[in-house]
Amino acid sequence: MAANWKMNGDFRTIDRLLNDLKNDLLDEEMDLGQIIVFPPHVYLQTVAQSIVGTNILLGGQDADQRESGAVTGSVSAKMLRDVGCDYVLLGHSERRILFNEDDYGIFQKLKQTLSVGLKAIVCIGENLEQRDSGQALKVISSQLEALISRDISIQSGKLLIAYEPVWAIGSNKSATIGQIGKALLEIKKILKEVDPDFSESTKILYGGSVTEKNIAEILAIDGVDGALIGGASMDSRSFSKICRIAKTI
Ligand code: PEP
Repeated sequence: MAANWKMNGDFRTIDRLLNDLKNDLLDEEMDLGQIIVFPPHVYLQTVAQSIVGTNILLGGQDADQRESGAVTGSVSAKMLRDVGCDYVLLGHSERRILFNEDDYGIFQKLKQTLSVGLKAIVCIGENLEQRDSGQALKVISSQLEALISRDISIQSGKLLIAYEPVWAIGSNKSATIGQIGKALLEIKKILKEVDPDFSESTKILYGGSVTEKNIAEILAIDGVDGALIGGASMDSRSFSKICRIAKTI
């Protein structure tokens, strides 16, 4: 369960959220890596300190494609690793839309992220217009192919794909089981074409209006290994409940 806190929270609310999460999940035997939190960059160090000794892992919401240098305002993958991250979230639709990120730039960020030993969760997914015009699977495959069909060798387990239909994000309108199932089949097909072992080792998450009410049926879909959660992850009760349900599936 990956919690994307986006540009939300402050010291007080993040501290409270983490304490509630730790208390709520204290007696649950969560596996290490089953929960990953993605706070805004400025709170990474605080969160890193707070999750020591827990099963929660840390991720950055984005990383620059360059190693270091004169890139004012940016954060490198190496810095994220330095502060205690294991993961980086890349290609979120909000970054694609608001910061004009394209497939090639996201591929470069992926390369940089993997080169410093971090794992990447890369988001792909169609917008409403693309879905309505029957282009959803085509969009998903071209976004995925842009990542993996270039000259890059990806170690087993280092890349995770989050299927996030843009229209389902923050809309209270999750994709249907059928829509998610079809998208997952397409993703698996493309991964298998690269290598069946690569396909096996690449975990796939679903994201888009996941709540405690729909998490069970989403995780029951063949091929869904987890969820990327925005809104519900800022509510400790909801997120703890989602994690507890996920644990039983
Ligand atoms: C997201 O931002 O990645 C997301 C899935 O948000 P929400 O859960 O709020 O739809």
